[in-house]
Amino acid sequence: MSRVELKGVTKRFGAFEALRGIDLAIEDGEFAVFVGPSGCGKSTLLRLVCGLDVPSDGVIRFDGRDMRGIAPAGRKLAMVFQSYALYPHMTVAANMGFALRMAGVPKAERAVRVARAAETLQITRLLERRPKELSGGQRQRVAIGRAIVREPSLFLFDEPLSNLDAELRVEMRFELAELHRRLGTTMVYVTHDQVEAMTLANRIVVLRDGQVEQIGTPAELYERPVNRFVASFIGSPRMNFLAGRIVALQSGATEVAVTGLEPATLTLPVAAPGAAVGDAVEVGIRPDDLRLDGAGAARLAMRVEFSEYVGGAVHLHAPGHPAGRLTVRHPGACPAEASLSLGIDPGRCHVFAADGRRLW
Ligand code: ATP
Repeated sequence: MSRVELKGVTKRFGAFEALRGIDLAIEDGEFAVFVGPSGCGKSTLLRLVCGLDVPSDGVIRFDGRDMRGIAPAGRKLAMVFQSYALYPHMTVAANMGFALRMAGVPKAERAVRVARAAETLQITRLLERRPKELSGGQRQRVAIGRAIVREPSLFLFDEPLSNLDAELRVEMRFELAELHRRLGTTMVYVTHDQVEAMTLANRIVVLRDGQVEQIGTPAELYERPVNRFVASFIGSPRMNFLAGRIVALQSGATEVAVTGLEPATLTLPVAAPGAAVGDAVEVGIRPDDLRLDGAGAARLAMRVEFSEYVGGAVHLHAPGHPAGRLTVRHPGACPAEASLSLGIDPGRCHVFAADGRRLW
C-alpha cells in the first residue's frame, strides 16, 4: 500500500523557486508520470518524494503519514536513475543483492530474492557477469532488478531509459508496463519524453516552471488540454495552431474567423466563457484531424513544402502556411498533388485565448 500525497510543496534554491505550491495525490497502485521540458522541476520533485532533499514549504505524506524527518532508507521505496550506478567490481547478483546485504538480510533469503527478480527481468543467465560485460539495456535491467529485490511499496524512476537507443527504449517501456501490471506497486516516473509518458502512465502530471499545468489520464490530456502549453507538449506530431479572431458569440456557439479558411469562419458548438467579439484566439487542431478527403464543415488550403514517410502514414508539412506552421498526418501514401484542400471538423478543434487558456 502506498498513496503519495503532496500539499503545497515548494522548493527554493536560494531566491530561485524550483517548485511552487505543488498539490497532488498519487493513488495506491498507480503509474504516475511527471513530464515537462528541461528545468521544469521534475527531478527536484522526485528527490523530495524520495527524501534525498527536503521541501522548503508544504508536506509530503505516504499513506497519510508525514514524511518530514524520514530519511530515504525509512520510506520503503526504491529509486532507479538514468545512470545505472552499478558497482563495477561486483557481479550482477552481488549488485542486485547489495542493498539487502546492507540491510542484514540473510544470505539464503538474498539468493532467493535475487533469483526471483532476475527471472522476472529475464537476466538469470547474466547473474555472474560484471557490469562491463553487459549492454546498456542489460545494465538498466540490473538497475531495475536491484530496486525490485527490495520489494518496495513505491518505485521512483528518474528518466531510466534515456541512455538507451530508440529500439531498446521501446522494448524496456513495454517491460516496465508489464512489470507494473505484475507487481501492482505504485510507480512514479519522470521523463521529458511525452511518448513515454503517454504509453506508460495511468495519470500524467504536466509540469512547467515549477508548477503543475494539468493532471489527467493520457486521453484526457490529449483530448482536452487545459491550455496551449499542454496542447503543444502532448501529442506527436505537435498540434497545429491557426491564428483566428472571434467574430460572433451566441448562446451555445462561437464563431471564429481563421486566416485562409473557406468559408472564412468556423462555428464552434460551444459558448466561450470570458471571451469577447474581436478577441484574438488560436484554433488548435491535431495533425490527424486535418482531413485530406475534405470532410468537415470548412476547408483550409495547404501547399505541401515537404513530406516524411513514417511507415503506414505520411507527415505533410507547410512551415510557411499563412495561418501558422502546419503539419498533417495522413494514414496512407503521399498525395501526388502538392496543393491540398484540408477538411476541418469544428468538433475536433480546440480554441485558446491569447493568454493560452483553453476557451474550447
Ligand atoms: P531535466 O529534464 O533537464 O533534468 P528537470 O525538470 O528535472 O530538468 P530539475 O533538475 O528538477 O529539472 O531542476 C529544476 C530547476 O531547479 C532548474 O532550473 C535547476 O537549475 C534548478 N536546480 C535544481 N537543483 C538545484 C540546486 N541544487 N541548486 C540550485 N538550483 C537547482
